[in-house]
Amino acid sequence: MTDVGRVIGTRDSQPLEFWVGVAPESYLQLDDVVAVTSAVPERGDVTLYGLVDDVRAFYEGAKFDSDVFRVQEGVLPVDVATVAHVSVTRVEPELFVPPRPGQAVRRATGEERDQALYFDRMERRFAVGLARDGEPLWGNLEFLDGTRGAHVNISGVSGVATKTSYALFLLYGLFHSDVLREDRTNSRAIIFNVKGEDLLFLDKPNARLSAEESAKYAALGLPEGHFQDISMWAPTSRNPIGEPVPDTGSRQEGVTPYFWSLRQFCQDHLLRFLFAEADSESSQIGFAVSVAERYLERATEGQRGRGWVEIGGERVTVDALIPWDTNPHTFQPGEEHVALVSQARLILFNGLDLEGSVRPFFVEHAPAGSQLITYARSIPSPTANQPPADQPPVTAQAAGDEAHMWLDIDLARVYIAATEDSLEIVDSDGIPTYRENAKAYLTELDALQRELEDELRPIIQQQRRLFTYHDSFRHFARRYEVEVAGSLTADPARQPTDEEVAQATLDVKDAGLRVIFRERGFDKDAIERVADGADVKVCALYSDMVDGKANTYIDMMSANAQELNRCLRF
Ligand SMILES: [Zn+2]
Repeated sequence: MTDVGRVIGTRDSQPLEFWVGVAPESYLQLDDVVAVTSAVPERGDVTLYGLVDDVRAFYEGAKFDSDVFRVQEGVLPVDVATVAHVSVTRVEPELFVPPRPGQAVRRATGEERDQALYFDRMERRFAVGLARDGEPLWGNLEFLDGTRGAHVNISGVSGVATKTSYALFLLYGLFHSDVLREDRTNSRAIIFNVKGEDLLFLDKPNARLSAEESAKYAALGLPEGHFQDISMWAPTSRNPIGEPVPDTGSRQEGVTPYFWSLRQFCQDHLLRFLFAEADSESSQIGFAVSVAERYLERATEGQRGRGWVEIGGERVTVDALIPWDTNPHTFQPGEEHVALVSQARLILFNGLDLEGSVRPFFVEHAPAGSQLITYARSIPSPTANQPPADQPPVTAQAAGDEAHMWLDIDLARVYIAATEDSLEIVDSDGIPTYRENAKAYLTELDALQRELEDELRPIIQQQRRLFTYHDSFRHFARRYEVEVAGSLTADPARQPTDEEVAQATLDVKDAGLRVIFRERGFDKDAIERVADGADVKVCALYSDMVDGKANTYIDMMSANAQELNRCLRF
């Protein structure tokens, strides 16, 4: 503790503000933190902490502005006085008395500074920056994350990017320290950029950062560097061959064009956003829009991964026996499905007991001359020892493989090949179309494979472990070097029992996992009970069912890739 001056008596001291006469051998600058302790009769010592918000120097004893010349000439003897105004930030104990004139004022450092600025009361604090004296300033996360408040006001001179830089610094501090703790995985910041393209380089190091500036990060306990985990979107334009590309000048690589395809437009019910009144229930437009939206959704259902939309005029009408959001393990065909099956010329299903009892239903109701194709009989077993190429392969069905084969994209390719072959047998006039479509789709699967591998690459081997709702990721795990750490239930056709939940909780704890996966469409509560019991996070994967967010195979695998990267990477 260093004394820097004394409380003056020529101006009033008050409980919440006072003036300090600065000692000639010392100084106070704006934002300095000071403390003064006064003895209060009957109550003992009271310490006032405060911040310097004004500093003034003047001639004592001079009356006129022109006295400065007489002082220079040595004809008027005066002293220079420096005083500082202090706004009180904290009083300990809370007894609001003014400090006594004459009391020594000290610079608050270390623990006293933390007390003066309430840093000692902040359970979770984030870096606000450095004060003028080079010491760190902290903010209370509870007033930022919504616990008690969620607001930051940044003011400053317009047009010099200071406020933007500061907002980015705040975000950098939040996402590159451990202040967010377990909320880190699910926290995201969205930045809207309306001018320039500078922010497209947030994932690159600053080439002009000096050693001095870089040391300031260390003072705040932050690593020095660029943003580690960001994605960028930009408005879209077309490249010369018509593909959508980001409409940016300085950078295109790593920037995703932001747009909806026509297919997404139809399937996600986006028509309403073109009409101001489409949401109003009393308006005729709203009714017409929702009818049109339903038509567009139905007309494009099942169209996959294409940039364009086909309404009518297709060679094939596809009907799904099991709706896309229905658990195939529990699905029971009934009377209402007889008409659907009895019109079919080609029936395709997975087999390997995935869809329960559909096979006898197909056999009973499929019309004469129709083809019944089980993928499990068409796909060579990925696990069996296969004979030489000139002999028939051991099929997945013969090897008794696990049913969820499509989660390995290489096996999904075989599903496509089998589908193409089957269509060509049933409708030989369409061979060119089927061949072209299958080829185009396989190209999309190539891109999907690359995307999945890119997302998985940064995940270290120790983190490549999957605990899922049911045992559905075996083929995925084998193909992508992931370990199956377990699953909640052996029978996805019924609710998990309390015993299964208890056992799974023990298994997850024993395995030392940090995250487990629910599967979309399956019982979410049971997995969350396991996660609560074992104190781990829950992430979500697509396996047997899709939903409104991802309603094609490509979207679902792409969502899985991103989710695995997000949840297992750190
Ligand atoms: Zn399943």
